[in-house]
Amino acid sequence: MTGTDTHNLEQLAADARGRIAACADLPALEALKVELFGKKGVITALLKTLGGLAPDERRAAGARINAVRDELAAVLAERQATLEQAALDAQLAAGRIDVTQPGRGQQPGGLHPVSRARRRIEALFRNAGFSVEDGPEVEDDWHNFEALNIPADHPARAMHDTFYFPDGRLLRTHTSPVQVRAMLREKPPLRMIMPGRVYRCDSDVTHTPMFHQIEGLVVDEGVSLAHLRSVLHHFVERFFERKLGIRFRPSYFPFTEPSAEVDIECVFCSGQGCRVCKNTGWLEIAGCGMVHPNVLRNVNIDTERYTGYAFGMGIERLAMLRYGVNDIRLYFENDLRFLRQFG
Ligand SMILES: [Zn+2]
Repeated sequence: MTGTDTHNLEQLAADARGRIAACADLPALEALKVELFGKKGVITALLKTLGGLAPDERRAAGARINAVRDELAAVLAERQATLEQAALDAQLAAGRIDVTQPGRGQQPGGLHPVSRARRRIEALFRNAGFSVEDGPEVEDDWHNFEALNIPADHPARAMHDTFYFPDGRLLRTHTSPVQVRAMLREKPPLRMIMPGRVYRCDSDVTHTPMFHQIEGLVVDEGVSLAHLRSVLHHFVERFFERKLGIRFRPSYFPFTEPSAEVDIECVFCSGQGCRVCKNTGWLEIAGCGMVHPNVLRNVNIDTERYTGYAFGMGIERLAMLRYGVNDIRLYFENDLRFLRQFG
């Protein structure tokens, strides 16, 4: 190898170092690698020229070319590591999650329509001087049936489709046992409502195995059916926010005497007759009556001195009428498209 060749080799190495340093990304570096060390690469071509040299020249030239090749390979590997790290950093920076950022597409939450209806009912009765009472959902036979004048062989038990536990206890079929507990605990005057879940083995468009009832109880001296009618009339007009006709139809419940079903003027057709009210112009909304003397005696209340009235309504039923929902099961399917309409 002549002096000029050595100079050319130095020039080639300097040139290659500059180009390696200038490589901005991995594909460009890979292309340069092929250009230098590939089968048709510059270094490879130089090594091939060694065959035409005299043996002593060949050894010296080979050593120089190999040294340049090794040095460039090292520079190239270093540059490659730098570019790979930069690429990784860029990828990490791009994919970084800032956990302090607010989420996208946030939906405001809202109360379930049954909860909304229940709170509304509670507020209206609180304003009328009623307290709100609670009781256990797992009951015994005495509180759920016996004390309410429904003895073991009473036909009314068949209507209740009760869920029983193996030990004879049961899931309460109505909120009335809360009345019994309240009357045992407190002396008259009593003026309370008892909202809560009740359970019956029943399921169709108007029945679900679990639903919500609200029970009302007033026990005092001189309480009459006229008071009951007035309280319920005020309640429905405030609940539906309009003037509504109300009527009592004679009915039968074991725990009240006399008993009545309460109808209100249809809220959809204002009494004109429509599909919902089956063209009667009326919608059934509650059961009620004067507390049966047997019930008062069962909880040691003096029936000579006190009388009481009680009423019961389905919260889902009230919510269906207020919001115009025609299938009770919609309340329990938790379909967000349905629930969002009440936000
Ligand atoms: Zn109607």
